Amino acid sequence: MLEALSDLTLDDLARRLAAAGFAPFHAGPVLRAHYGHGSVTPHPGRLPPAGLAEWLDASFAPAAEVVRRAAAADGTVKLLLRCRDGATIEAVLMPGDRPDRAAGCLSSQVGCAMGCDFCATAQTGFLRHLTAGEIVEQFRALRREAAAQGRALKTVVFMGMGEPMLNLPAVLAAAERLADNRVGGLGWRQITVSTVGVIPGIDALTATGHSLNLAVSLHAPDDATRARLLPPGRRFAVADVLAAADRFQAARGRPVTLQYCLLHGVNDAPEQAAQLAALVGARRMHVNLLHYNATGPGLGGARYEAAPAAVAEAFAGILRRHGVVAHFRRPRGPDIDAACGQLRRRVLAGSAGDVSPRRASA
Ligand code: SF4
Repeated sequence: MLEALSDLTLDDLARRLAAAGFAPFHAGPVLRAHYGHGSVTPHPGRLPPAGLAEWLDASFAPAAEVVRRAAAADGTVKLLLRCRDGATIEAVLMPGDRPDRAAGCLSSQVGCAMGCDFCATAQTGFLRHLTAGEIVEQFRALRREAAAQGRALKTVVFMGMGEPMLNLPAVLAAAERLADNRVGGLGWRQITVSTVGVIPGIDALTATGHSLNLAVSLHAPDDATRARLLPPGRRFAVADVLAAADRFQAARGRPVTLQYCLLHGVNDAPEQAAQLAALVGARRMHVNLLHYNATGPGLGGARYEAAPAAVAEAFAGILRRHGVVAHFRRPRGPDIDAACGQLRRRVLAGSAGDVSPRRASA
């Protein structure tokens, strides 16, 4: 099987080039062009060496390719990519408030084993980790999609399918390439890793020293509600998750974002807002309030509903009165199954499913 350029570092490609008789310095321009961040020409005005394009074509193939595209009225675009083994993954482009900018959401695993009760991805079980190359292919596809809209892909967040902390080596390997000025062209600060609160992963991320951002999906201010919604909540208590986030924030000097998806009658009561405000307190963390995109019955059979607008506003008001920085994240593409895992689940339901290693249920 051919290698994927997206799986190679600059040094890897330089070695391949040298072995094939090309100058290793072509590795930079080749990868910049591959990432959509430059030209394959090593020096402006000079043509690439004879035979290089043919050698690249004969030696490499994509790690994953876009097989389906769904565009929403609000400009959100969800892409379904198929990996070489038939596994499918989602990536989402979200237009920014500025007309020339966009943000991307990347998957880190095929499916997910965390079993969050309200999540469409959880219902398709866990298949496998993604490789760094498969993550990079999502970034490339989103960058092309953004360019077609006249936008620049300015930020990415690992908040698609999967729990990034359980596939941290591949997530970091991909992030290193995206953050490398010579390759992906994003800065570390333009990359966010989002977790449901896997404490060893948060600490491992802190230890890397990379200045990327951390988002923690809290979704409840107390252990009992959190454990009901997120199975990892049974293992990692709210206080301990926030303590790990404190360590990350202290090391980086930038606020951690707490994600909170408002589910009516579950976690949107005024007392829960006050409880959350007490937890966030003087921490300087920001709270991102998410609108729930209904995905049908949860794993345990419960049906969740989005908090009504007035309830959500009241919840945010309580947080703000306590001095907490709280924002609503704009709902994205509700007309195209934009919640994590919805498009893939619908495609799987209408097909023979992923052609890849045996699925292990969450
Ligand atoms: S919400 Fe995230 S961590 Fe939880 S099951 Fe879905 S993809 Fe996995």
